[in-house]
Amino acid sequence: MNHYNEQAWKQYVEERLSPDHLSEMELHLYQCDECLTMYMTCLEQMETVLPIMERDTQEYVDAIIARTTGTKRSWYHSTMLHYGIAAAATLILVAIGFFHGISQELDSVGSFKPANSINTSSSLQTDKPISDQLLNKTLTWLDTLQNK
Ligand SMILES: [Zn+2]
Repeated sequence: MNHYNEQAWKQYVEERLSPDHLSEMELHLYQCDECLTMYMTCLEQMETVLPIMERDTQEYVDAIIARTTGTKRSWYHSTMLHYGIAAAATLILVAIGFFHGISQELDSVGSFKPANSINTSSSLQTDKPISDQLLNKTLTWLDTLQNK
């Protein structure tokens, strides 16, 4: 297993890497306790650095005062928020990958070519928003399960 160093995790927290790289590291995060610990450490460090980059001096002083009065609690909340977003993003990525696999099984490969644009299933899909497509795929998938 290839581990990421502290520098990489700092870049991950700041989202200074390519989306591919970010999701790659995110997947690793769920398999590796060692890197998770390092990520949490970097996250904690970035929390103290971010106010300098994003706010003016007065707000930065206020932020420090706020941190010294309720350090543990605010750190915990922001960390869990970041973690929650990461978890949700992973679930969405997994869901899209999963349903993409199913759609490739259901549709013939040729249905994506312009010559077959009359194909009802593919023309319907392009008119619908992603969320509707996901919902339909989910329902189709559930039907498939129930019919087994
Ligand atoms: Zn690792």
